[in-house]
Parts: sequence; C-alpha cells; structure tokens
Amino acid sequence: MEQKFETTVLHGTKKNQGNIKSKTMPIYQTSAFSFGGLEELEGYYHGEGNYLYSRVGNPNTDELGTAVAVLEGAPVGVAASSGLSAILAGILAVAKSGDHIVAAADVYGGSYFMLESELRDLGVETTFVPFGDLGNVEKAIRPNTKLLYTESITNPFLRVENIEGVVAIAKEHGLYTMVDNTFATPYHCKPFLTGVDLVAHSATKYIGGHSDVTAGVIVGEESLMAKVRSRVVNMGSNLSPFEAWLACRGLKTLALRMKAQSGNACKLAEALRENEGVEEVYYPFGEVGADAGDGARDCGGYGAVVTIRLAGAVNVDRFFSSLQWVKIVPTLAGVETSVSHPLTTSHRALPKEAQEALGITNAVVRISVGIEDSGDIVRVFESAIRAGL
Ligand SMILES: *Cc1c(COP(=O)(O)O)cnc(C)c1O
Repeated sequence: MEQKFETTVLHGTKKNQGNIKSKTMPIYQTSAFSFGGLEELEGYYHGEGNYLYSRVGNPNTDELGTAVAVLEGAPVGVAASSGLSAILAGILAVAKSGDHIVAAADVYGGSYFMLESELRDLGVETTFVPFGDLGNVEKAIRPNTKLLYTESITNPFLRVENIEGVVAIAKEHGLYTMVDNTFATPYHCKPFLTGVDLVAHSATKYIGGHSDVTAGVIVGEESLMAKVRSRVVNMGSNLSPFEAWLACRGLKTLALRMKAQSGNACKLAEALRENEGVEEVYYPFGEVGADAGDGARDCGGYGAVVTIRLAGAVNVDRFFSSLQWVKIVPTLAGVETSVSHPLTTSHRALPKEAQEALGITNAVVRISVGIEDSGDIVRVFESAIRAGL
C-alpha cells in the first residue's frame, strides 16, 4: 500500500521480535547471541534468522540501517560508528590502492581530510574540483578513476548538487557515484532514486536529530552493500546497540523536525535577506524539496541550515557574544538553533588559498535552525546583528 513519508518513517521497518511484542524496539545491549545447539548455529550461517556477534550484526544497528534504506528507497542499509566510517566503508567498497576518485571541492571537512590524507596514504588518490560546473568533473576523470563523490547540499554555502548530471557522467564513463545526503535527508532528497550507487549519512545530524549520538548509515543495492557491510564488519566500524537505538528513537520524528526546522530556516533566511547587517544569505530557496518518491511536496522550506555573510560594518565577535540562548557549537541538526563559525572550526585546517577559493571568511556564520518559535529565532539574530553594528 502506498504510504507517505510521515507514515513510513514510523512503520516502514517493523522487526519480528518473536513472542515478545514490545511496543518499541528494546536495546539488545549484548556483544553476542546464544544458540540452542549446533543445528541452530549452522542455521545462522544459512541465513535462518538470529544473530551471532554484535560487531557482525545486531538488531538495533540493523533497525537503523534498514530504516534509512527504506526512507531512501534503497534495498539495503548498514549502520556504522560515525558518518565518516560509513563514508570510508563505501569508498573502500569501490576503490583500492592505485584507484582514483573525483570529489567535489566543497565536501565536508572531515571527508576532505579522509580522502586527502588517510586514503592518499593508502594509495587512493583524489582530485577535488568544483562540481558547480560539471565540465570540471569530465576533465578530471582518468583511466583509473572509480568514483565520483559529492554531497546533495554542501556546507557551508548550501550549494545544491546536480545529481542527475553527476550520475549521467558516471554512467557514460562506467564509474560509481556516492552522495553524502546528510544535510538534505531523505525528507528532501533521495539520491538513490536518481541512480546514485551509494548514499551516506552522518546520522549524528538530522537522522538522530538530538545531538546525543555519533553514528553513520550507508545505503545501496544488495551486491554493492555486501561489500560495504564486509568493510564495516572487518574494519570494526560497527555502531553500538545503544547508539543505534538512540538514532532510531530520533529518526521517528524526522518528518516533524525537518518540516518545522526547514520552515523556520526559510523564514529566517527571508528575514535576514532584508537585514542591513547581512551582506549575503545562502539558502537554497526553491532548489530542493521536489521528492523523487512522492512528487513535489509543500515542505515549507529547503533544508534547515542557513549561512550568512555579515556586512563589513558588523563586529563578528560582538555578534557571536550577543546570541543569547543560541549556542556556538561546531555541529548542526539538533532541535535547538545553534551557530558555527566555519573559518575557525570546520574549515580551520584548510590552506588559506582553499579557504579563500571557497569564500570562507571571518564574516561567514553557519546557522543550524531548530524547532523554536520562528519569530523568536528571527528576533535573536536581528538583535545580535544590531549589537554588532
Ligand atoms: C558531520 C558530517 C559528516 C561526518 O559525520 P560524523 O558522524 O561526524 O563522522 C559527514 N558529512 C557531513 C555533510 C557532515 O555534516
């Protein structure tokens, strides 16, 4: 039966728990599982239910992986200990020493350093190019290129990727594609349905949604995900049952949160566009939100991150210290509105030229919009800007 996102997010992944029918999923806080005899043990290896060892599989981590896969429209999902370990498992499923990756120049800082230092040391080379002009991607492809890597909405300037265009280039050259869908979430965008091979999430962000868990998820089709799962299991990148349970608990309200947070973000972006203390507002008005599964949706917004460039007249330090109840934290996606300063946190370690090329200056402020009253959110920022003027 056809279901809406809001229903599937709650009921799409019912797990059979045998005779005990608890309303919510219990936490299987166990490192291993027992067997009634050798026949039952043998049955495990033939796929007859049960679990063996929590690093290899656990009902809570399976619940998270499956839930995100269902929401993304993909057959299989695997949870990992963090967004970065999910991304690493995905990359190592398609690239090995001697292979080459073309990645977007504006990918998340942690992903940039994973590719640029760890994977380069392991013999996997990456060329970073601006994906805003896909001609750059074509030019960077080499005979040993295996993967095109990008994000559906980038950080901190909220560039919306042309995923269809990236997939078309990959198809033409026989390459894999991987998209980090952390900022958009499947509520706004489902890259797998556009033909992307692997879709990764930092579940630390909107999937969990409450800033109380570090987790990752990656989804894709069965045979490729078998490789990804093998990487997660054999590299020991598994998620703990409790963290998975927390992420699943948060996930139940993804639709409500995204609707409220995106709507508030839209209103804040509109208000700040009119503010004399703001030189520029970065927000993908109208660019995302068309849902490949359900058709266009009136989501009241296009993601919940708004980035601003303060005008030269605003004292940036005074702005940050005048934000009242808005915390300065180097993360995003919690239910509380928070701000971060990309120059001194997420993009701190980039070479100065790279910071300049990306436009990351002292005046750039990334706002993760929460579920508070939209009027209160607008007022707190207007007042901090006034204090800085
Ligand atoms: C936070 C983040 C990551 C990394 O996730 P962790 O859970 O911190 O490992 C990757 N991509 C994006 C877009 C992020 O925001």
